[in-house]
Amino acid sequence: MSGLLELDDLARHFPVRDALGRARGAVRAVDGVSLSVPQGSVLAIVGESGCGKSTLGRLALRLIEPDRGAVRFMGEDLRALSARALRARRRDMQLIFQDPFASLDPRMTVEDAVAEPLRLHRVVPRGAERARVAELLERVGLRPEAARRWPHEFSGGQRQRIAIARALASGPKLIIGDEPVSALDVSVQAQVVNLLQDLIRDLGLTFVLISHDLGVVRHIADRVAVMYLGTIVEAGPAAQVFGAPRHPYTRALLAAVPGHGARAAPIEGDPPSPIAPPAGCRFHTRCPFAEAVCREHVPPLAGSTHLAACHLQDRLPPAAALHERNAGGDRLRRLQAYFGAPAPQPDTTGVHA
Ligand code: SF4
Repeated sequence: MSGLLELDDLARHFPVRDALGRARGAVRAVDGVSLSVPQGSVLAIVGESGCGKSTLGRLALRLIEPDRGAVRFMGEDLRALSARALRARRRDMQLIFQDPFASLDPRMTVEDAVAEPLRLHRVVPRGAERARVAELLERVGLRPEAARRWPHEFSGGQRQRIAIARALASGPKLIIGDEPVSALDVSVQAQVVNLLQDLIRDLGLTFVLISHDLGVVRHIADRVAVMYLGTIVEAGPAAQVFGAPRHPYTRALLAAVPGHGARAAPIEGDPPSPIAPPAGCRFHTRCPFAEAVCREHVPPLAGSTHLAACHLQDRLPPAAALHERNAGGDRLRRLQAYFGAPAPQPDTTGVHA
């Protein structure tokens, strides 16, 4: 069954130039991503900062153009649409930005901000706009009187509610939320996550959540795709990805989530440059299990419903064993710090730290 949104081998490389304007390679922000988002589902795209997930969200809405690949929304190829047809289609596809302080125009009242999409897409007759804005504000937990005020008069959480009301105004089928709660205080995050959950359920929305915060993802997503250096390394039902992660990178990300249980030591080191990603498996420079095959051959994204791009996914040690070994590594580091001298190294035969 095809999804409401289909991404097929999507890629976008941003040229890098030196001070004289000469080409010096390209940042491979998104490098061959295929995904399907079923109608009414919540897909979370997760990964470290810089993995390409925000670029992927913008490509999916055709806010930026891909270098290659296809984006199909409701079976329609978005790349084939004229600018006019694309504007009309945007009524069904909205984006919620991370920063509620930047996403609202400070020169517009709340009423004007929320009414703008109503006017642009002629959603209701002009005389009915005010009532519709009041309805939308109530729907996101704000009083109708908020319409007369200015964005700076609201807290971060309230401003994000206004941004959500604005995203809902055109009656979209798909909303992409790019880190929609990460700029908010922790105490407010839960309220906005609950609001999003209610809206998704009540309005039958399809939602793509872009987030580095697996704690938030766990609450809201029914499917998860994990990105690393511009590619998908694991994807599947959220219960399976969280319950039995098959890729070492996913295991390491999950290990950093409070309350998830220490299944592996958090990942160490920075990701390699997306200008020159490593050959073979892009994760091999940080993977504790890397073998020769990992450095030479790109692992395919393999599996039926739960997919992972790892040559060794069927013979990785149990998560508990991994934790034991990493705990040993921590002990060595503590000894080194205590004695002020290099501690004995662990046996890493066949293992690349
Ligand atoms: Fe690690 Fe090799 Fe799997 Fe890549 S393919 S994640 S390097 S074990």
